[in-house]
Order: sequence, then structure tokens, then C-alpha cells
Amino acid sequence: MSFYDVIVVGGGPSGVSAAKSSALNNSKVLLLEKCPTIMANKPCGEASSQETLKTAGVKPTPQIVLRRAKALVFAPNMNSIEIDQIGYALNKSMLIQAIAEQAAEAGAHIKVREEVKEVGKASDGHMLVKTLHGEYKAKVVIGADGYNSTVAKCLGINEKSEPIPTVQYVMANCDLEYPDYVRFYLGNEIAPGGYAWIFPKDDRIAEVGIGVRGGPAKFYLDKFVKLFEKELKKAQIIDYRGAPVPIGGMIKQNVVDGAILVGDAAGTVIPLTGAGIHSSIAAGLIAGEVAAKASMEGNNSKHRLEEFNERYNEHWGERIKKSLKAMRSIEKLSDDDLNTLQKILNAEDILDLSNGFDLKKVALKLLKHPILATKLAKALL
Ligand SMILES: Cc1cc2nc3c(=O)[nH]c(=O)nc-3n(C[C@H](O)[C@H](O)[C@H](O)COP(=O)(O)OP(=O)(O)OC[C@H]3O[C@@H](n4cnc5c(N)ncnc54)[C@H](O)[C@@H]3O)c2cc1C
Repeated sequence: MSFYDVIVVGGGPSGVSAAKSSALNNSKVLLLEKCPTIMANKPCGEASSQETLKTAGVKPTPQIVLRRAKALVFAPNMNSIEIDQIGYALNKSMLIQAIAEQAAEAGAHIKVREEVKEVGKASDGHMLVKTLHGEYKAKVVIGADGYNSTVAKCLGINEKSEPIPTVQYVMANCDLEYPDYVRFYLGNEIAPGGYAWIFPKDDRIAEVGIGVRGGPAKFYLDKFVKLFEKELKKAQIIDYRGAPVPIGGMIKQNVVDGAILVGDAAGTVIPLTGAGIHSSIAAGLIAGEVAAKASMEGNNSKHRLEEFNERYNEHWGERIKKSLKAMRSIEKLSDDDLNTLQKILNAEDILDLSNGFDLKKVALKLLKHPILATKLAKALL
């Protein structure tokens, strides 16, 4: 049996970040990933902000940043708002690889093809982690194993963030009208309870996906693709995958004795955008440090590990809550309301709403509108 200070389960953005920060904080850390590779185990639109790489401590090399892109947000009537702020179309696999490399350099042990089957508490107070190939002990386990977290299940954490089902095609041979923009399409006809997207990887390849609630996602995606006769007519699907995205906010019980859940396992996605790369990296970094320090102190109690929530909630938890509030208000709007909203809001307002930054400012602006004052502004305040 091998002993560690910290075991991280799952090698997505949150897991590699947790392993890196645990190792940098002088703990003996093991990262276990069930797939043959830590890279690209899940479908993802791979769009993120410049700040994501800064948080991760990774340089925006051409291998990681495929394209610098602005954004267009389309109302149901196809009028749009341009967001001038530059974001990144990422190669997420290479981003995860870069963070894993830093983790390894800092001393983390990484094992792929090592699926965790059981997690529990041993009689000596350590956490016992069983895989298909072996058993390991650690003072603290970090569950970074995604939405259907095995760590959560094993530790009796049954609460789950509300999921939105998503499907995504990677399409080659596209004739993109806006190759330098990531595009978001809203509307109850197009994507009820969610949105559809076209994110270019280069001039000819794009990720075309959708998240919907209350209907079959693939049906809506195929309908969406048909809207783009000119751009996507000759395009071929070279990848077709789907996965749930937790958009219902953070679960309450993400810390228990001996374990912290992070990333999708804890519901750290920004609800209105469905973006989870940045927030899961930030969660992994904080959890890794807290776990390392708690383990040095020989105190793996829930009370000690709650430092994670204290630090994460200060910025990220608040943003997630506000974005959830915005989502709950906007999901009730009709397509006509969304068309009106497009005329009133500017790029800054969209960023405030979707990222959960300043809902009050947007609400005060909407209060002047006869219909949206009651339908939206009051709900945002
Ligand atoms: C279609 C789609 C599009 C998206 N687009 C974007 C986007 O454009 N921008 C953005 O910011 N976010 C996007 N997201 C969300 C983002 O992908 C996630 O929020 C993010 O990847 C969460 O990271 P994570 O490390 O918490 O979990 P995951 O990325 O899910 O990683 C979990 C890891 O744990 C491993 N694992 C699972 N079980 C076990 C086990 N028992 N033992 C060992 N290993 C295990 C898995 O193989 C996986 O490698 C999208 C999601 C989807 C589904």
C-alpha cells in the first residue's frame, strides 16, 4: 500500500490544477485518471478568457491558444451584440497537458488508466482509495472526477447540481462567415432553456454545439445546423459527443471529513454561460493548497477543509450565485423579450449578467423599460 498526503481523483482542468498546487505546497500527491490520457476526455467548446491562462499560470502559446476571438451574442431574431473583449479558442488538451507538466515538475505522481472504484475512511483516520489495480492511502482526497463523481457517490454525497444536457459536433470544411468570433445563439425555438454555439478552431473547423432543457438536444442541434446552409452545407462531422453540464450552482456539501470536491463534481460552472474551465482551475488550485496544508497539520476534518469554501466563495462562489440568479430570470423570457433585451443591453451588460459580475447595474438600466422592469429587472435586484 502506498501512502500520500493528498490523492486527486480525475485529471481534467480541476484535477491537474489541484495536483500542481498540492505539490507546490510540499505535499506528496498522487493524481489518478481513469482514461489512457489526461487530455481531452470530455467534449468541450474550449472557449475561455485570457484570465484563465493567467490563473492557470500557463503561457498563451500557439499550441494552447488556437485563435484570439471576439464574441457575438444573437437574439432569436438574429440581431446581435458584439463583445469586443478578446477571448481564446483553446486547445484544451494542450492546456491540461501544460498544467500536468507543471504538476509533475513540482513532484506530483500521475497515473493514467487508473480508475478509482472506491473511496472511504480507513480505521486509522486516513482516506482509503481503491482502483482496479491497487490501494492507496492519503490524508485528504480531492474529488475532481467530473459531474458523475465516483468520489461523491462513495462518500455519500448525493446532492447534484442541476445538469443541462449538451451535444456538440466538431465540423470540418466549414465556410465560416465569422471565423474570428465565437457565436452564441439564444431563443426558445433554437435552444429552449439554453443556447447554441459556433466556436471556430481555425478558418475551416468549428465546434458547433447546443445545450437545451426540456427537449432532445441532438434534435435541436441538427435543426440549428440546418439554419447555416451556406456556412455548414459542405461541412463534415468529425467528432460527435455529449455530456451534462452542471448549471444549477455549487452543491452545498462539497466538503466532508477527508475530502473536497472541485470543478464539475462540485458544480462550479458559471450557470448562464456553462463555462467551467476557468472556475474549475481556480477551484483546483485553492483545494490543492488547502489539502496540502491540512495534511501537514494532520487535520483532515471537514472543519479544517472548509477553508476551501471560505476562499473559493469570496470571488467564485459569489459569481456562480449571481450568474445562477441571472439565468433563472432570463430563462422565463419569451423570444420577443429576448429580442427587446438585445436592443437595450450593451456588451458590458452582457458580461455583467452572464459572468455574475454586476447584476444591479443591469437591473437599474432595465427598470426604465415598461415590460422588462417587471419581467427581469426586479428579479435581478
Ligand atoms: C459540450 C460541452 C461544451 C463545453 N464548453 C465549454 C467552453 O467552451 N468553455 C468552458 O469554460 N467550459 C465549457 N464546458 C465545461 C467544461 O468542460 C467543464 O466545466 C470542465 O471541463 C470541468 O473540469 P473538471 O476538471 O471539473 O471535470 P472534467 O473535465 O469532467 O474532468 C474529470 C476527469 O476525471 C476523470 N474521471 C472520472 N471518473 C474517474 C474515476 N472514477 N477515476 C479516475 N478518473 C476519473 C475523467 O476521465 C476526466 O478526465 C463545456 C462542457 C461541455 C460538456
